[in-house]
Amino acid sequence: MKKHIVLLPGDGIGKEVIQSAKDVLEAVAGEFDHSFTFEIQDIGGCAIDLHGTPLPDSTVTACAQADAVLLGAVGGPKWDRLPSHLRPEKGLLGIRKALNLFANLRPVKAFPNLLHASPLKESVVNGSDLLIVRELIGGLYFGTPSGRSADGQSVVDTLAYTKKEIEQIVDKAFQSAQLRKGHLTSVDKANVLESSKLWREIVEEKQAQYPDVMVEHMLVDAAAMKLVTNPGSFDVIVTENMFGDILSDEASVLTGSLGMLPSASLNQAGVGLYEPVHGSAPDIAGKGVANPLAMILSTALMLRHSFQMEKEAHLVETAVQAILDDGYHTADLEVVNGHKVGTAEMTKMIVELIKSQSATVSILNCYV
Ligand code: NAD
Repeated sequence: MKKHIVLLPGDGIGKEVIQSAKDVLEAVAGEFDHSFTFEIQDIGGCAIDLHGTPLPDSTVTACAQADAVLLGAVGGPKWDRLPSHLRPEKGLLGIRKALNLFANLRPVKAFPNLLHASPLKESVVNGSDLLIVRELIGGLYFGTPSGRSADGQSVVDTLAYTKKEIEQIVDKAFQSAQLRKGHLTSVDKANVLESSKLWREIVEEKQAQYPDVMVEHMLVDAAAMKLVTNPGSFDVIVTENMFGDILSDEASVLTGSLGMLPSASLNQAGVGLYEPVHGSAPDIAGKGVANPLAMILSTALMLRHSFQMEKEAHLVETAVQAILDDGYHTADLEVVNGHKVGTAEMTKMIVELIKSQSATVSILNCYV
């Protein structure tokens, strides 16, 4: 299969981990007879330096024509004092909007060797493996009117959704549940909010189209509690933009390791933007110690969700799992009796494993 991938390294460790992603994808292409072509474009602080804007038109055009986009991270102290329209993060928000990325997928998985890093008891977090599907371009963050009254004595934000917007994210969540354990938790505030009542009605209507998926409704306050008391009880969670923002950040600390968390943002055409959850980590940039695993796991999401290459995605994920099981880790992770390695060495070991294991990969026990 031929695929064209735009790489947006961005700033700080973004540039280092994107190289790891490219190495891994080249290994996958070699093993499975695919042809991946890569094009590097600027975003964030480096784009401000080179083009005077965090999101040049050339970047938007290239991403719109690509089969998928991989992003490292943006930002850093050098650009912190610029006016808000010139901040690196504007590039990130701009590309999400330009590509109409309505669905944000964040898997959170507890790796056995890293359980001690969780703020929760190991017995609580052990076995957790969940996916949060968040609506990304509607709801409270985009509704109008939004602002203060002229006299400054009142304020309004608007939580608006169309039926179509809810239907498309709910469909994506049902489809994601079909690829996993078939259990969908729809999170809302239907005891109070009209938007949540419509959300719940649509989930119930859609259920008939996905009879193999078991659906549960949960109020957002209960879901927030259950995420820290029994995270292992979730498979796929679907929710609107603001609830998803909060719950996905809550879930991201469960495993205690920011360098392990991938994400995917998808549009209706299946074109996606894949990026690690972490930022540009200016404190360690250029030192060769960044953990590349969140970026590498993001490539697995890309293989699965944009290219429907399940076997290839699973191979990348099992390679990451195997390296951790063998005790290898980067400086951000503490592993008892482990072997600390840098970004390049970690990447090389994953690449070698992909090359040696490709013939034996099975699609059982997939990490979605
Ligand atoms: P950060 O995620 O960059 O770093 C937080 C801490 O985690 C740091 O100590 C860092 O060294 C460590 N860390 C993060 N990723 C790591 C990895 N892969 N390997 C090893 N250690 C890692 O968050 P921050 O310090 O709050 O922000 C730094 C910059 O990144 C800011 O400019 C911020 O705006 C930007 N940021 C960008 C994104 C993005 O591009 N999606 C997300 C968050 C923050």
